[in-house]
Amino acid sequence: MAKYISLYSGSSGNCSVIEQNGKFIIIDIGKSARITANAIRELGLDIKNLQGVLISHEHSDHISGLKVFLKKLDVPVYSNCATLDYLADYDLVPAHIRLEDMNFAGHNIGDFYITGFDTPHDSVGCMGFNIHTQSGTRMTMATDLGCVTENILNQFMGADLAVIESNYDEMMLRENENYPYYLKTRISSNRGHLSNVQCSNAAVQLIQSGVKKIHLCHLSNNNNTPSTALSQLALTGMASGVDIAKDVETVRANRRHEITLPTEF
Ligand SMILES: [Zn+2]
Ligand SMILES: [Zn+2]
Repeated sequence: MAKYISLYSGSSGNCSVIEQNGKFIIIDIGKSARITANAIRELGLDIKNLQGVLISHEHSDHISGLKVFLKKLDVPVYSNCATLDYLADYDLVPAHIRLEDMNFAGHNIGDFYITGFDTPHDSVGCMGFNIHTQSGTRMTMATDLGCVTENILNQFMGADLAVIESNYDEMMLRENENYPYYLKTRISSNRGHLSNVQCSNAAVQLIQSGVKKIHLCHLSNNNNTPSTALSQLALTGMASGVDIAKDVETVRANRRHEITLPTEF
């Protein structure tokens, strides 16, 4: 069984580990290299078994620790072409690191087979990932997306584990006096972030199609709480005849500064 673990999640930094038999990959390194390396050590993983780093997009909460983290390592970085160009142009990745374009082809990374798909976000490029194991299971992850397109929903369909952004509560964002109007507009636009309602609508459709394990990720510190996001999911489910407590095997809201329990897929 492969395991998904969130090391940290939210606008202050995002990082996930997917591990099987001690070998692992990382998605995004949005806090310092030291914090990330410490969290990996805490999991009992040996950095020598890191097979590759996937980057969703170039925003600092996804890459700020990347360069220092990879300084003494020799593992490839995978992303879309625009993001890789950005990382290279702005010297955000060590020069010796191999950059692998995921735009047109899937890649075998260690024991995983991984494909990417575009997500709408205000970055040079942004992508979600499908991570297939050799035993035929799959997890799908998309974070930082302004809306769930039909293609994105299709990417998630049939996943054994869905990890999807649940960034903000619409009322909390609207009433937040510390956020200027332009920022509220940016967050709630079709190229910003997913609200709890948008996430829940998608998640309930996935549950109705048979998805049994869900992680909510990239929760806002100022406009959301884990219990608010989970309550919205329960409410949306109820309105569609889905009982989250009964119909879903695992549902977790990733924490900003805490390692989650591993979820197998
Ligand atoms: Zn972003
Ligand atoms: Zn982000």
